[in-house]
Amino acid sequence: MSKVDIVEAPEDRLPKCPYCSKDLDQIWSKSEGLGLAGKERILMCPHCRAMLAYGAWRR
Ligand SMILES: [Zn+2]
Repeated sequence: MSKVDIVEAPEDRLPKCPYCSKDLDQIWSKSEGLGLAGKERILMCPHCRAMLAYGAWRR
């Protein structure tokens, strides 16, 4: 079995949207609701508005 090393990405490499394949030099985040425990947040692609991630972030 081969193994994969997980390393820090170089700073000049941008993540790519899996839906429209454009470089993500920025990612939109949309907050849903206000709570003391944290916010639900949606991350989306600014080019095609695809939802990239969804979850609750604690602050
Ligand atoms: Zn996209």
